[in-house]
Amino acid sequence: MKHPRIAGLWWGVVVGLLALALPSLQSVTRGAPAPHLPQAARWDVHAVRFASIPFQVSGLIQGADPSRRLDIAMMVWVLRGPNTRVAIVDSGFYREKFITRWKPADYHKPSEAVQAALGIEPGQITDVIISHIHWDHADGADLFPNARIWLQKEEYAHHISDTGGVLDRAIDADVATMLYGIKAAGRVSLVDGDDQEIMPGVRVYTGGKHTFASQYVGVQTRSGTVILASDNAYLYENLEKKIPIAQTLDPASNLAAQVRMLTLAGSLAKIVPGHDPAVFDRFPIVKPGVARID
Ligand SMILES: [Zn+2]
Repeated sequence: MKHPRIAGLWWGVVVGLLALALPSLQSVTRGAPAPHLPQAARWDVHAVRFASIPFQVSGLIQGADPSRRLDIAMMVWVLRGPNTRVAIVDSGFYREKFITRWKPADYHKPSEAVQAALGIEPGQITDVIISHIHWDHADGADLFPNARIWLQKEEYAHHISDTGGVLDRAIDADVATMLYGIKAAGRVSLVDGDDQEIMPGVRVYTGGKHTFASQYVGVQTRSGTVILASDNAYLYENLEKKIPIAQTLDPASNLAAQVRMLTLAGSLAKIVPGHDPAVFDRFPIVKPGVARID
């Protein structure tokens, strides 16, 4: 079998010589990716479902029929990128009080669900991007002992005091204490506002207004930009019918964010809503509860 790198080098030489000898060939090959140029960072993206919770749809879609119920998907999203970088978007929940209160079905601790899904151990996760401070997205942040935790500076400052206390009841007291502790240990990076590239090929955006400074994530993949909306768009129905999420501090801002997600992704097919079980119908299934997004 040919060594792929050597073959690539030879191919580069051949193409280079042809381009020199036959300038007209350039017009034919223009637009094709140059094999010898460094590739932009590309990530592969999986959705991993770690539980289901029955939920009233009117709590997700403004104005929905109050009799509608849906088993919503509790997910984390795994990004595998350049070198050995492995990020997750949101961290799920695991504290006993949440399990007792919400009685999730088919529950697996998020760290264990990720390991079972993709063979990634908790200690291998290098980055955890928290979309917002709600318990079902942020509680699991301390399951990943080596990870840098990314959240919006304003999201942190609005909810957590200088001593780790609760400033806004949107955050659970234990989640506040936990994030405060990780910050004191130097593992929290606070992102300063909208449209920030926090690692190569990964950008975060604000304006969804699910919480004070909730963010969503744009990831460069082999198929272009994928948007992980988290709760800034709970379900496909929000995006398809252009209806704000039911829990928002600013419906107009939320709708504007949904429009922007569509612009960034280029198509609704590349947006992943925060709790829609249809994610596992619309994307290829790798194994039960695991969908390949990119
Ligand atoms: Zn949620």
